[in-house]
Amino acid sequence: MKPIYHRILLKLSGESLAVAQGTGINFDRTVEYAHQIKELAQAGVQVAIVIGGGNIFRGLKGAAQGFERVKGDQMGMLATVINSLALCSALESIGQPAAVFTAINMVPIGEHYSKWRALQALEQGKVVILSCGTGSPYFTTDTGSSRRGIELECDVMLKGTRVDGIYTADPEKDPTATKFDRITYDEIISRGLKVMDMTATIMCKENGLPIHVFNMDVAGNLGKVLAGENIGTVVTP
Ligand code: UDP
Repeated sequence: MKPIYHRILLKLSGESLAVAQGTGINFDRTVEYAHQIKELAQAGVQVAIVIGGGNIFRGLKGAAQGFERVKGDQMGMLATVINSLALCSALESIGQPAAVFTAINMVPIGEHYSKWRALQALEQGKVVILSCGTGSPYFTTDTGSSRRGIELECDVMLKGTRVDGIYTADPEKDPTATKFDRITYDEIISRGLKVMDMTATIMCKENGLPIHVFNMDVAGNLGKVLAGENIGTVVTP
């Protein structure tokens, strides 16, 4: 396979590490993902990953139950650290070097993120896992990944989801929804499509970071995206 991208930012939701109810972390599932990621790294692709925390805690949902919002968001950010450690451990268990960076300093759990240290790890062939999102409350890991993707000068942000691209409406709720092969950032915004949160979409638009949304739950799809196969939805200017 000759990969079409040299450096990618892969965004995974926290729920992707879980099975059934979407909570907790499933080791076998995490290793399945690790195999797909390893394949890319072995093909010479520099892989940076931002992983969410929704399988453990989301600040907004916590606030609705009565938790204080900033503490809830901090709990959510810590959840992303747990998921990042799980993915790092799964990668290492199959012989793929990886490193966890944290946006908030919590050495020795992970290295405190800096662009230069993350780039150095990528150059060394490590899969770089970027936890805590942006490191600030009131943001999401979608925004964390658009920010890191831009900062690390990635060629694309790949958003692995459980549907096979961007649809006119939520295909899990509306059976008449149709899929886009390509769409512009402006169309996502004007149609109010909930692909990612608006802040993340606007950051990608303003900084020209292409987004490719695809179904990560189908084994082999990540490799297909890198091989340039026509799957998922590509978001461009
Ligand atoms: N979070 C935050 N700032 C960030 C990223 C995440 O406060 O920059 C918190 C927020 O509470 C969020 C939670 O971490 O709900 C988990 O992240 P997210 O909801 O993006 O995870 P995903 O839905 O991708 O699993």
